[in-house]
Amino acid sequence: MTHRLSEPDPARFGETFLPDQQPPRVHPKVLQDEFVAAAEWAARYLNELPANPVGRPMPARQRARLREGRLGREPGDLGRVLDFVRDQIAPYPTGNGHPAFFAWINSPPAPAGVVAELLASAVNATCGMGENALMDLERGTVRMLAGLAGLPDRTGGVLTSGGSMANLLALATARTWYLTRRGSADGPAYDRDHARLTVYYSAQAHMSVAKAASCIGLPAHRLRPVTTDAHDRLDPAALHAAVAADLDAGLLPFCTVSTLGTTATGAVDPLEPVTRLCRSVGMWHHADGAWGGLGAAVPALAPRYQGVGDLDSMTVDPHKTLSVPVGCGALLVPDPEHLHTAFAHQASYLAAAEPDALPWLSHSTIELTRPGTRALALWATLQHLGRDGVTDLIEHYLRLAEELRDRITAEPRLELLAGGPWPVACFRVTDTRSSDPDALQTRVARRVQENGRAYLATVAVRGSTALRACLCNYRTTTADLDLLLREVLHAADADH
Ligand SMILES: *Cc1c(COP(=O)(O)O)cnc(C)c1O
Repeated sequence: MTHRLSEPDPARFGETFLPDQQPPRVHPKVLQDEFVAAAEWAARYLNELPANPVGRPMPARQRARLREGRLGREPGDLGRVLDFVRDQIAPYPTGNGHPAFFAWINSPPAPAGVVAELLASAVNATCGMGENALMDLERGTVRMLAGLAGLPDRTGGVLTSGGSMANLLALATARTWYLTRRGSADGPAYDRDHARLTVYYSAQAHMSVAKAASCIGLPAHRLRPVTTDAHDRLDPAALHAAVAADLDAGLLPFCTVSTLGTTATGAVDPLEPVTRLCRSVGMWHHADGAWGGLGAAVPALAPRYQGVGDLDSMTVDPHKTLSVPVGCGALLVPDPEHLHTAFAHQASYLAAAEPDALPWLSHSTIELTRPGTRALALWATLQHLGRDGVTDLIEHYLRLAEELRDRITAEPRLELLAGGPWPVACFRVTDTRSSDPDALQTRVARRVQENGRAYLATVAVRGSTALRACLCNYRTTTADLDLLLREVLHAADADH
């Protein structure tokens, strides 16, 4: 007889379900055993991760099986979940748990965050409506992030699925704020004004900014990517000129997005001149700090964050800089009533119990039913690190990136193109024999990925293809830097 884990032998456990109890009921003893087995497996998986390959090719047949989407009629065993993850999911991750993974900005999960996600999903609070402990904790974690980011005490906001969602909420908030001030948030004036809105961001801004602008209804010809300087920072003079030209043409500049830590090269846009311009023409100033929003907490970076407290809103991505398990982003807004103006909608089935209750978090975002996992995973990670730990962690990344850039500069077969102040190095394999240096970098990255000992990606830097190595894994050491460069040179050798 096969042992059905969801319904253990009553003779052994002396307990049966009530006749009208429905699946997905689970016998208490089975639940306990499965949790213990899952927790033991997860801890072993995380502990043993560095000894495994960064990634491995996934057999085509298995990929097809996962995509098939066939659901059997018969109930399955609870124990199948762990078997399935162990055999079919865990061997094929993105690779971002591994210390030799240097691609994109994907962190490994902080252990405290992994534990918290399990616990929070058991509590399963919905952080959109009513009152519950996790919703207050979310308000508290938003304040913790605001404190680390150097924003004012009064700052509010919401956690989001990530930076893209936070940027979308920011642009929607800026738009409502702008049109409300002009008296054209509704009515015939709306049609006249909305069609003339323009938004500004550096040419190095993340694509999610343009995507957000498109989602709130701005066509491509109302988007203004602005020239950057030699260090990939937004050029305030170019911004000034673009805004002036649009005003002259009768358009309505409503928002500028600065980037704190550009995705490609880690640049930090100058905040103060942009805020001054925004104030003088009545624009909202949002900063996309998905990667670099917490720079004010790091003494070596803080001077570049002068004026951060005067921003109208900021995106931060705790799932990048802080290793909170994905997806955990946040939108921070020093005057949170602007968020409520954009997102508070009433409905008869959602009457608040008390008139003086705090605004629900659903009044600050698009989501109504919202997970408490973000708040608890963020809280757990932050309390495990402490304020000093956050600074130390970012400083660790900065030190490693500096080491990496030094090693690249010292290696005659490599050329450093860009990188910093956020911890990244963009570089190239130099090979005078190569007729297509861009294609060479792409081949090198692909070979490194295929060999499975390290992982990095490519990026376009000032018109050339570069190898890009990003530091955002707390387990990465200088030995991993050596490994990466060995792998890159080895992959370049394979060209001959
Ligand atoms: C990663 C990133 C985003 C997007 O964040 P997601 O969490 O991936 O949605 C936005 N802006 C910048 C600067 C980023 O680096």
